[in-house]
Amino acid sequence: SKDNGRNRFTYFTPSMQEAAQARMAISNELRRAIDEGQLAVHFQPIVDMHDGRIRKAEALVRWQHPARGAVSPVEFIPIAEHTGQIVAIGNWVFREALAHARRWRELDQQLTVNINVSPAQFYHTNGDNCRHWLTDNAIDINGGAGPPAVGLEITEGLLLASNHAVMKQLLAFQQAGIKISLDDFGTGYSSLSYLRKFNLDYLKIDKSFVYNLEHDAANVALCEAIIVMAHKLGLKVIAEGVETEQQYDILRRAGCDYGQGFLLGEPLPPDGFEALLHERMMA
Ligand code: C2E
Ligand code: CA
Ligand code: CA
Ligand code: CA
Repeated sequence: SKDNGRNRFTYFTPSMQEAAQARMAISNELRRAIDEGQLAVHFQPIVDMHDGRIRKAEALVRWQHPARGAVSPVEFIPIAEHTGQIVAIGNWVFREALAHARRWRELDQQLTVNINVSPAQFYHTNGDNCRHWLTDNAIDINGGAGPPAVGLEITEGLLLASNHAVMKQLLAFQQAGIKISLDDFGTGYSSLSYLRKFNLDYLKIDKSFVYNLEHDAANVALCEAIIVMAHKLGLKVIAEGVETEQQYDILRRAGCDYGQGFLLGEPLPPDGFEALLHERMMA
C-alpha cells in the first residue's frame, strides 16, 4: 500500500543509512579493540553515607580508540549488545575487574567491585555464559577472607521477562555470596512486581532522580519513597550521580546507605583508584 511505501522510504533516509554505517564501523573496530589493548576498566568509588568510607567500586569500561579518541560506553555498549560482542567485552571486563578487586582485598578485606552485566550476557549460549564465571573462578571470587570480591549490576530489562533460566543464574550467583544490584532504578519499565519476585540485594537510584535534587521537591519525594520502600523490602540503597554536598545531605538524611558520583570520586584508572584507597586509609 501507499503507507507501506512511505514507511519503507522514511526508513532508508540518508541519515539512517549513515547511522547504520557508523554502527557497522564501530562494530568492526570494536573487534580489534580487545586484541589490541584499546579497552580499559576504570573504577569509581561507592561511599558509605554513614561514615564517608569507600566500601565498593563500580567497574566502568573505557575505549581509547587510536583515531577517534575516547569513545563513550553509551555509544558502543548498545552496539556491542546488538552484535553479541558484549559477551567478549563482558568477559574481559570481568577478568580485569576481578584481578584488581582481589589485589585490593589485601588493603581492605570488605571491598567489593561491582561489574555491569547486560541481559545479552545472560542469554548467550543457553545462559551458560555468566555461570562459567562461577565455575572458572570459584576459588578466586572467594579468595581470602570476607565476602566475594565482586558484585553484579543488572538492569530492569533482565528481570522483566522473568525467564526461568535467568532466575536460576541469579540465584546461583547469590548462593555463591555475590550481591546483585538493580541498576538505573526508576528509568525502565518500572514494574515493582519484580522487586517481590527477585530477592535482590541493592537498589541503585538512577542519577536522573538525584540530578538537581536540592531544587526539585518532586525528586526529593521520589528518592525518599524509593529508600523507604527498598528498606522495607530488605534492599540497601545506592544513589548514583551525587554531584553536590546538598544532594549528599538530602540523601543521607533520607536514610540512603551508599552514594556514588563526581562529588565522591570520578571513575579512575586502576592505579589512580588504588592510590585513592591508600590515601583514604591513611586519613
Ligand atoms: P551506569 O551503569 O549507569 O554507570 C554510571 C554512569 O554514570 C557512568 O557513565 C559514570 O561515569 C557516570 N557517572 C558517575 N558519577 C556521575 C555523576 O556524578 N554525574 C553524572 N552525570 N554521571 C556520573 P559511563 O562510564 O559513561 O557508562 C555509561 C553506561 O555504560 C553505564 O551506565 C553502563 O550502562 C554502561 N557500561 C559501562 N561499562 C560497562 C561494562 O563493563 N559492561 C556493560 N554491560 N555496560 C557498561
Ligand atoms: Ca551500573
Ligand atoms: Ca546506573
Ligand atoms: Ca545509567
